[in-house]
Amino acid sequence: METAEVDVVIIGAGVIGLAMAEAFTRKLSGLNVVIVERHARFGQEISSHHSEVIHAGIYYKKSSNKARYCVLGNQMLYEFCKKFDVPHRNCGKYIVATRETDLPILRQLSDDAVSNGATANYVDSRPLATKLANPNVLGGLWSPTTGIVDSHALMVRLEQLAQGRGAILLYRTEFVTVEDRTENTYLLKVQDPEQGQYLIRCRAFINCAGLGAARIARKFLPEKQIEIRPCRGRYFSLSGKFTDAWRELIYPVPDPAGGLGVHITFDLAGKSRLGPDVDWSASDSRPDDPRLYDFTERDQSVQEDFYLSGKRLIPQLEPQDIAPDYIGIRPKLFESGAAVEDFRIYQSGPCDWHLLGIESPGLTSTLALADHVSSAFATTTP
Ligand SMILES: Cc1cc2nc3c(=O)[nH]c(=O)nc-3n(C[C@H](O)[C@H](O)[C@H](O)COP(=O)(O)OP(=O)(O)OC[C@H]3O[C@@H](n4cnc5c(N)ncnc54)[C@H](O)[C@@H]3O)c2cc1C
Repeated sequence: METAEVDVVIIGAGVIGLAMAEAFTRKLSGLNVVIVERHARFGQEISSHHSEVIHAGIYYKKSSNKARYCVLGNQMLYEFCKKFDVPHRNCGKYIVATRETDLPILRQLSDDAVSNGATANYVDSRPLATKLANPNVLGGLWSPTTGIVDSHALMVRLEQLAQGRGAILLYRTEFVTVEDRTENTYLLKVQDPEQGQYLIRCRAFINCAGLGAARIARKFLPEKQIEIRPCRGRYFSLSGKFTDAWRELIYPVPDPAGGLGVHITFDLAGKSRLGPDVDWSASDSRPDDPRLYDFTERDQSVQEDFYLSGKRLIPQLEPQDIAPDYIGIRPKLFESGAAVEDFRIYQSGPCDWHLLGIESPGLTSTLALADHVSSAFATTTP
C-alpha cells in the first residue's frame, strides 16, 4: 500500500478543520498540512446547518471551555471578518423575559455573563416592550457584542488562506483508522473512490470530525467511553412580511430542557426564522446519518409548538407565517453514559488533538480553538 508523508493531518473540512489549517499554515510556514474530508466540498454537515450567530459568551459555566473559547473567539472572529471582508453584522441581541418565572433566570444570566468576561446589560420592561412592540415583555438583557456572520463566506476565506499557504484538501477521502503509531508519528489509513485505501504518515493529527469525532477518537483513546449522540434542532422560516423586521436578534430566556430556547434569528439578507428546538428523538441513530436532516411528518407536527413559542416573542405572528426550513444536528458528547456539557479537547499523545462536543458556540469559538491547538503544536516543534 502506498504511503504519503506529511506533517499535519486534519480530519474534517467543517469550520473547525478549516480554521485549524489556516492557523497551522500561518504560524508554522513550510509545514505540509492536509485536510481529509469525506464529502466533495467543505461544510456539508454541522457547519452549514446552524444559526450563524456570533455569540457573546453569556450562557456558559464560569471557567468552562465554552466560556473561554467563545469570549476570545468572538473578538477574533470580528477582527478576522473585518480584515478579510467576510460579511457580518454586529447587530446585538435582546434576551427577553415574557413570564414572571423568567426574571430570576435573567439575573443569573447577567451574573454569568460578567463572570465569563462578556456583557449583558439590563433593559427595563417598558422601553423594551415599546421598542419590540410586544406587551408580553417583562424585562430583558442587551448583549452588544452578539452578531451574525455569513458562515459560508467565512469557510471560503479560511480555505483560500490555508490553500494559498500550501495546505492540501483531500475531498471525497475518508479516515479509516490509525494503523500504527510511534512516539513521533501516526500512520493513518484513508480511502477515496479512485485510489481505494492508502496510508498517510504524519507528525500531528487533529480530529475535527464533528459528528464523527468520537468514532475516530476511540481508535486513539480506547480506554475512554466516549460517544457522540445526535440532538436535532429544527428551524421554521418566517414569512416575507418579517424580512428585515428586526435590527437585533431576539431570544427568550434559555429553555430549562436544554438549548437557548426557540429564538428569532435572521441572516445578512434579512430573512428571519425561528429555532432551533431540542429534539432527542433520533439520539440512538448514527450521528452522521444524512436522513436526520430530513423534515418528516413528525417534524411538521411541531409547527404548532413553534407557533406558540414564536407568538410570545412576536405577538402579531399568525399560524400561516411559519413553514419548515432546515434541521441542524448537535454533536452531543457523552462520557461513560453521562452528558458532558462542555467542549473537550483530548490527547492520546503530545501531537494528537480530538475536538469533541463542538456544538454551539463552536462557530464563534472556531478561531480561538484553532489558535489554541496550533500554539500547542508549535511548542512541541523545535
Ligand atoms: C442547530 C445548531 C445551531 C448552532 N448555532 C450556532 C450559532 O449560532 N453560533 C455558534 O457559534 N455556533 C453554533 N452552532 C455550533 C456550530 O455550528 C458548530 O460548533 C460548528 O459548525 C462545528 O464545526 P465542525 O467543523 O466541528 O463540524 P462539521 O462542520 O460537521 O465538520 C466535520 C467534518 O468532518 C467530516 N468527517 C467526519 N468523519 C470523517 C471521516 N471519518 N473522514 C473524513 N471526514 C470526516 C464531516 O464530513 C464534516 O465535514 C450550532 C450548531 C447547531 C447544531
